[in-house]
Formats: sequence, C-alpha cells, structure tokens
Amino acid sequence: MTSYLKTTPDKDGWFGSYGGAMLPPPLEPHFKEIREAYAKISKSADFIAELRLIRKHFQGRPTPVSYLKNLSALCGGAQIYAKREDLNHTGAHKLNHCMAEGLLAKFMGKTKLMAETGAGQHGVALATAAAYFGMECEIHMGEIDIAKEAPNVTRMKLLGATVVPVSFGGRSLKEAVDSCFQSYIAQADTALFAIGSVVGPHPFPRMVRDFQHVIGVEAREQFLEMTGELPDMVAACVGGGSNAMGIFSGFIDDASVGLYGVEPLGTSSNLGDHAATISFGEDGDIHGFRTLVLKDANGEPAPVHTVASGLDYPGVGPEHAHLHKIGRVHYTTADDKEALKAFYALSRHEGIIPALESAHAVAFAMREAAANPGRSILINLSGRGDKDIDYVTQTYGFGTDL
Ligand SMILES: *Cc1c(COP(=O)(O)O)cnc(C)c1O
Repeated sequence: MTSYLKTTPDKDGWFGSYGGAMLPPPLEPHFKEIREAYAKISKSADFIAELRLIRKHFQGRPTPVSYLKNLSALCGGAQIYAKREDLNHTGAHKLNHCMAEGLLAKFMGKTKLMAETGAGQHGVALATAAAYFGMECEIHMGEIDIAKEAPNVTRMKLLGATVVPVSFGGRSLKEAVDSCFQSYIAQADTALFAIGSVVGPHPFPRMVRDFQHVIGVEAREQFLEMTGELPDMVAACVGGGSNAMGIFSGFIDDASVGLYGVEPLGTSSNLGDHAATISFGEDGDIHGFRTLVLKDANGEPAPVHTVASGLDYPGVGPEHAHLHKIGRVHYTTADDKEALKAFYALSRHEGIIPALESAHAVAFAMREAAANPGRSILINLSGRGDKDIDYVTQTYGFGTDL
C-alpha cells in the first residue's frame, strides 16, 4: 500500500487542487530558502536526533492517552479517550511545531522567530522556542484577542517576546497574519516566519503537519497498547487544522478508522457568526495558498466568530480542504453552547479543564457517544483551558444553568 503521507502533497505543495504558494515577488527567494532548508534537514540525522531529545527532555513527550471513564459513563454508548496535548509543555500541541521551527531557524542561521497568534497559544509556544534557542521573537496579535487572552500576552512578554498589537479590520487572527507578513518582508534575511498552523504557502502546510505527526504516531501506539485495537473514530477541532492533522496523520492509512474534523459553529450558521470554513466555505485564495474560504458578498474573507479565539480563521489548511474533497475525513460542527457544555463537563467529571478550542472535540464525542454503543472515540485534547477560565466564568458563570 502506498502511504498517503509519502505521496501527499506533491513536490510543489499541492494537496490535489489545494495548497501551492502564491507569493509576492519579494518573498519568493525567502520561501525558496525555507523549502530547501526543510528538504535538507528533514533527512538530517542530527536534526532528527536533536528534535527527539528536545521532545523528551524539554516538552515532556510522550503525552499520555487517557480513558475518560466518567464522561463515557455519563454519555452512555461509546468509550471516550483523549490524547493529552494539554500536558505538552506550555499547555497545547503548538510547541510541537514551534520547537521544530526554532531548530530549523537555528540550522538556517537565523536569529529571530516571528509569527501571528490568535488565542496567544502559538505566540507563547514560539516565544518559548525563541527563549530556548536564544533568539529574538516578534508576535503579531489582534487587539480583540489581546483583551480576551491577557494571561498569554503576559506569558509572551515574560518569555522575552515583543507583542505587536494589530488594530485594523476585525483585529483578530486574519489581520495578525497580514500584519506579520508585512513586517517579515523587511527582515526575512535574519528572521524565520514560523506560521502557527498547517496554513500558509508551501512548505508550511506540509512541514507543520510533519512536525505535528508525533501526536498521531504516539496516540496510535498508545491506543493499541491500552485496548489491543485501533479506535473506531478519531476526532479533533479544526481551526487552521494543525492539531487535527497531527492526530489524523497517525491513522490516515487505517481504512477502518473514521476521522472527524470539528469546526466551530459559533452562535449560528449565518455568515459572520461562525468559523466553519469547510462546512460553509468556497474555493479561494488566502494568505498565499488555495483552500476553502469563508467569503463576504465582495468575495473578501468574511468576518468570523467563535468562543474559541484559536479557531477564529476564515480559511483552513489546504490538506483539510483536500481530505474533505476526497472524503477521507468527515467534517462536522459544534457551536459555542455545545463547546461550553463540554468545557464544564470535562472539568467537573474528569478533572481536566480543556481549552475552548479542544472543547469542540469533546462536544463531538459527547454527542456521538450515545449513537455509537460499543465503539471507541479518541479525541485530540489539543490544549488546557487555564487561559480561558476568567473569560468563561465571568461571561457564563460556573455552568450550572447550561
Ligand atoms: C491554536 C489552537 C487550536 C487551533 O489550531 P489548529 O491549527 O486548528 O490545531 C486548537 N486548540 C488549541 C488548544 C490551540 O491553542
């Protein structure tokens, strides 16, 4: 059997009809440099060995798989398990690719890491990598997110990063990407733009997937060891789609395993009320690559909403658009209310406070469990919810009315 991961994307970064690299001319040489450096180091024994040590001794990998016995009993039906990326250092999966991107920057002789951030998780992870490698760090963040995710802004500053507030347009993730690209053009000789998900021009969707693949490799082995079988269903929330590609990629050649991407439905299915790009988007270009995009009446990226800042993006990784098209992954949604219910339920019944992003995957498992008796559902718990507790409790209380 030919392995999906070996053949997808093609050498120019196309996942079927999605992906590619549509770059402004000044960025062409810099992306060429990144492509060539990645092609070289991904086969370098030194790079692989150093990354393995970092994962083990700094990040605390492998993270465990936990059987959620109380939630399974409560929901009735399927057995629910979680891959615990909340226990990865800095509390989310993003450090997996940030440490690898930092190591890539080191191998390329760069002295600075820069990126956009939504909920602040990518900013914190990248600032952590920059501190570890002794590099400078510049993070662009929308003003709305800065107000909502204050503790992460404090963390980034403590870690030595410069946080650049983005005050135009919707003042959220999409504008932060635009702002960061602009700043990067002027300093691409010495800096690496470490994109925060499986998005952006080639080679980022492929490279970030490869760096997150560790989640799926570990989870598959751990699940087999725990149960003697593969899971029937694997689910993850999808914003840009990196944590989902991380876990899906471990099971993608296992035809018996159903893969489910959960998009944020926000407050309703009306344009502007959600960020469910695959469910409601159309083909288009955004930030230098082709994918599905939520568009407004003028064909521009539409405003988006979800209670989870980290999922707030009007595009999606090109590989998800492709996996949707070929039918290998099923995409569904959970709305704000379902995510909040799941946030409270996992906290109270399992002693795990999930990130609001991850709570969308928990909501999926809770909803599907009853309909799937005797089956198993493995979700990727992409991050912990400490960053969200003030916002959630000040806005919604302690969940007793939901
Ligand atoms: C950033 C983030 C996400 C969304 O990003 P993906 O690239 O879609 O994985 C999900 N969960 C957490 C905890 C995050 O920090």
